[in-house]
Amino acid sequence: MKFRYLGNSGLKISEITYGNWLTHGSQVENDTATACVHAALDVGITTFDTADVYANTVAEEVLGEALKGQRRESLEIFTKVYWPTGPKGHNDCGLSRKHIMESAHGSLRRLGTDYVDLYQAHRFDVETPLEETMQAFGDLVRQGKALYIGVSEWTAEQIRAGQELATQMGFRIISSQPQYSMLWRVIEPEVVPTCQELGISQIVWSPMAQGVLSGKYKPGAPLPAGSRATDEKGGADFVRRFLDREGLVERVQDLRPIADELGISMAQMAIAWVLQNDNVAAALVGASRPEQIIENVKASDVTIPAELMTRIDEVLGDVVVR
Ligand code: NDP
Repeated sequence: MKFRYLGNSGLKISEITYGNWLTHGSQVENDTATACVHAALDVGITTFDTADVYANTVAEEVLGEALKGQRRESLEIFTKVYWPTGPKGHNDCGLSRKHIMESAHGSLRRLGTDYVDLYQAHRFDVETPLEETMQAFGDLVRQGKALYIGVSEWTAEQIRAGQELATQMGFRIISSQPQYSMLWRVIEPEVVPTCQELGISQIVWSPMAQGVLSGKYKPGAPLPAGSRATDEKGGADFVRRFLDREGLVERVQDLRPIADELGISMAQMAIAWVLQNDNVAAALVGASRPEQIIENVKASDVTIPAELMTRIDEVLGDVVVR
């Protein structure tokens, strides 16, 4: 496993990071979730990403339980705040000081740790003054409950405003967590250059487009049993956003000869592709079974030559969202 620095900080994270959205506490049973976490540790993954809202807090509990007994100093644990969890009260949402502090304490309790390595704003809150949000994050950093601060799906402008305030308050935003894959490249024109300038890395979610870029969804064929596309607890709706786009599964199948030429699986090629971007510190990969992690982690050893990067663009053409 290779490690990369997260933004302009001294924190090193595994370039393949394990995330538990839609799986822990939902699609997969707890023993499979634990087996996935242990498989991730065995292959050298040290960085784990979750959120208070995943499976309505249960994902944090499952991850905390699965990591019990591990040496805390050898792990990087990331979580997020924004959406309501549990019973909905009028203050149980957004990035007010009240919600941030209450959510942070709940996350630490569920994860069974005194601090998280990275605490992230899951979305931007247009209703709360940004000063209030950044002040609350700064206090968590000073209290040692969050070692570093990140954001997720913020625009370039929002990131710049947040970084300016954070710097004035004596801390920094070091990461941005956006969706990024061969099929979804909206961060390239603005978010990436802004973050490069401000010393912020990307930790990118759905690098396999939720499994679609593994090539397992074939045109006209039944959906593979047990896949996210058959998960009626929530996953299916998300995968359909890709599968329902005209011509997309056909174009993805056309990537297979390129993966064959590289001697790797399509899933590995999708992960290696995001890691070629210098501003990406980690591919945030999900898994519904341990074998997927063992396969996916090998992407860390792959470099895709420039000529094949161009062929990937030619094959995908206008199915890419930019
Ligand atoms: P991926 O694109 O990595 O999709 C993971 C899913 O793909 C797995 O659960 C599995 O689903 C399938 N898969 C994985 N490996 C293989 C393989 N080798 N062959 C075939 N299928 C495979 O990412 P996710 O969408 O899961 O997102 C990853 C993480 O990103 C999340 O856990 C979360 O931490 C973060 N995230 C953050 C968001 C944000 O707003 N900040 C939003 C969404 C995610 P199956 O087997 O069921 O088909």
